[in-house]
Amino acid sequence: MPPSLLYLSNFEPARCSRRYNLELKCAGRNHSPQTCRKKVEMIIRKKVTILGSGSAGLTAAIYAARADLEPLVIQGLQAGGQLTITTDVENFPGFPNGIQGPELMEEMHKQAERFGTQFIYDNAESVDLSRRPFVVKTSSDEVHTDTLLICTGASAKLLGLEAENKLMGHGVSACATCDGFFFKDKTVFVVGGGDTAMEEAMFLTRFATSVTLIHRRDQFRASKIMVDRARDNAKIQWLLNCVIDEINDVEKGYVTGIKVRNIKTGEVKEMPADGVFIAIGHQPNTDLFKGQLDMDENDYLVTDGVKTKIEGVFAAGDVMDPHYRQAVTAAGAGCKAALEAQWFLEQQEAAEKKTAQAGTAAGATKE
Ligand code: NDP
Repeated sequence: MPPSLLYLSNFEPARCSRRYNLELKCAGRNHSPQTCRKKVEMIIRKKVTILGSGSAGLTAAIYAARADLEPLVIQGLQAGGQLTITTDVENFPGFPNGIQGPELMEEMHKQAERFGTQFIYDNAESVDLSRRPFVVKTSSDEVHTDTLLICTGASAKLLGLEAENKLMGHGVSACATCDGFFFKDKTVFVVGGGDTAMEEAMFLTRFATSVTLIHRRDQFRASKIMVDRARDNAKIQWLLNCVIDEINDVEKGYVTGIKVRNIKTGEVKEMPADGVFIAIGHQPNTDLFKGQLDMDENDYLVTDGVKTKIEGVFAAGDVMDPHYRQAVTAAGAGCKAALEAQWFLEQQEAAEKKTAQAGTAAGATKE
């Protein structure tokens, strides 16, 4: 159990209100915050709250924490984001010998914690952006925050096969840019008929001896130029009107082959494979913001840089970037979002100070 959760379950109002800057509200009668443990509904008051703990969220946390803003990260239940389902990461700068995805995220978490970031291991269940402070509710907490950094990422869509999750990072991948290098002189398959599938298949021809694109139809969603480029690449073979029914071998713990079915003829064949790249799209995690923030036709948040249309709400990483989708680009965006939040808060504070000074001056004139 992460320390933050342990702490909250051992909740002591007096200590919490100092450490976590809590406002306390009780549902019970004759309540004393110092004694009541069960009936207290906590409102956590923050200047900066970050939703998501992938590389965008944790980088934002490191920057905000180092600016003394004591950010709160609501981690989500897949803490660490997509990198936690990969194995070797060799393209994140600073690790000449590579690093395991989960380890990289753990190190980022520690770095954010070292500078005073607080963590809640839970999903945000609702978000109200209609006024500031913005309100975020989890299953047990209510957070009121002056700025909100949305780093909820995107999830790669999967085929729904049992072996997919079990062999993810062990031959199954949802990112050729991340993992293609590990398939030098290997036999790989790419599933999908969109631009991503075309792009990934072409990229993989740099490493693999054999790349076969499997698509469930014989028409492509990908743009013509991308299909033409892939068609012109002699290293790519095509299995159209085909689906993967099975990926082997879960028992061995790595990919040895696939069972492919032609959906027109019903023919089933087993083919040896070292790698299976699932490229059937991503789903940005934006349900919480529907009706409150602008989204494109694929539900990615629409931003100007890292600014959303609501002042004080910023977005970074895969949740607003359908194009690059890399840990390092997400980290860069997380940094920008934290700096924008810091500058936004400084402007707010300066404006409030000016208003207060004007009020004092007006009072003095009246007297
Ligand atoms: P898309 O949604 O465009 O394509 C997904 C593909 O996966 C479709 O061919 C779809 O088949 C197939 N698919 C979906 N679900 C399944 C399933 N369960 N089983 C088998 N196949 C399935 O996603 P992309 O990631 O390719 O692209 C997303 C966006 O990013 C697009 O707008 C694209 O243009 C853009 N992009 C642009 C690039 C570029 O310009 N260089 C590069 C990469 C992406 P079907 O067609 O039958 O529905």
